[in-house]
Amino acid sequence: MTLRTIKDIDISGKKVFIRCDFNVPQDEFGNITDDRRIRSALATINYCVDHNCAVILASHNGRPKGEPDPKYTLAPIAKRLQTLLKRDVILASDVIGGDAAKKAKGLKDGEILLLENLRFEAGETKNDDGFAKKLADMAEIYINDAFGVSHRAHASVEAITKFFAEDSKAAGFLLNKEINFFDRTLQHPTRPFIAVIGGSKVSGKLQALENLLQKVDKIIVGGGMAFTFLKALGEQVGDSLVEDDLIPDALRILDEAKKRNVKFYLPVDVVCAQTIDANAVTIYTTTKEIPHGWKGLDIGPATTRLFREALDGAQTILWNGPMGVFEIDKFAKGSFKISHRIAESHATKIVGGGDTADVVQRADDSDEMTFISTGGGASLELLEGKILPGVKALEIKDTP
Ligand code: AMP
Repeated sequence: MTLRTIKDIDISGKKVFIRCDFNVPQDEFGNITDDRRIRSALATINYCVDHNCAVILASHNGRPKGEPDPKYTLAPIAKRLQTLLKRDVILASDVIGGDAAKKAKGLKDGEILLLENLRFEAGETKNDDGFAKKLADMAEIYINDAFGVSHRAHASVEAITKFFAEDSKAAGFLLNKEINFFDRTLQHPTRPFIAVIGGSKVSGKLQALENLLQKVDKIIVGGGMAFTFLKALGEQVGDSLVEDDLIPDALRILDEAKKRNVKFYLPVDVVCAQTIDANAVTIYTTTKEIPHGWKGLDIGPATTRLFREALDGAQTILWNGPMGVFEIDKFAKGSFKISHRIAESHATKIVGGGDTADVVQRADDSDEMTFISTGGGASLELLEGKILPGVKALEIKDTP
């Protein structure tokens, strides 16, 4: 898939609308605790400013219910942007109301305007054409740089693209980089290609597993989702997280892996506790002997070793999902060790998913990874083989 990028169109001196993903985590005082998503948008914004554009930025933040809610204002984001860009950022007090319209109209070359939270308008999540048109009318060029929401058919992501001609809409640097990495990796991986998949449930990653099975040489499964596979194989998983209704799917996936000669690795031992609690008593046990009343909450030392060996010689590693309940230190060791192993590998290493990016950051391995995706849901949909609605309109169709 090839996207039309901001470099492929003429933006000089024009008014540009950039859909960004400034949906950042904030603490109870409203402080931004991780500004990676804001930093990731700087390249596109600076490129536009350097091309004498008047720049209108738009994003959502949190989940306001289609009306203004001061808790979700973009004011702290405007402030952080201003610090990072070392330029003034004008904040509109609404999205398509009088203030935004006036400020957008009067915006001069080189100036930057940030609209208020897009989800203060109900039309955003409804993919409403009327709302999208009002956003589109503010600018001559549309740029999507919001990978994290490009799997959503929302007005500022999908409907808005209808109001711009082919040569007036494109992907920003971040969106293009994200799509390219996943697309290139999935279509033309250097082999051996190994997927490491974890997280809570099989149901959330079933489609991704099915799609990956057709592309990879090995699949390593950890986290809560491993227990549905282990139970399907007749192991004694105690009170671990199991989705009984998915046991037939788990068996089908294992069978398909065998047919395709994809090596499928599951944990052989786990760290167990009776409750998911920082003070819980823990025991190590094999996955054949988890006692009744105990849950597997992290991979054990033998599994870490097994997975480390399975990763030997990998040329491409794709990691999505933690190996255990990493939010609690006691159950984070397995995820950290796998993170270190992947980090030290000479393979191309791609990390997808918000939780996994968090693990890698906490393990201090971020700099060692080839690419860390900024979008959890969007990267998962790419792994599922889907074309994202926000990306489809920006694709350059191959000429026959
Ligand atoms: P996901 O959103 O599906 O990627 O899952 C991430 C979540 O899975 C994290 O919040 C982990 O705490 C959770 N998780 C990982 N391993 C387990 C486990 N063995 N049992 C329960 N939850 C788990």
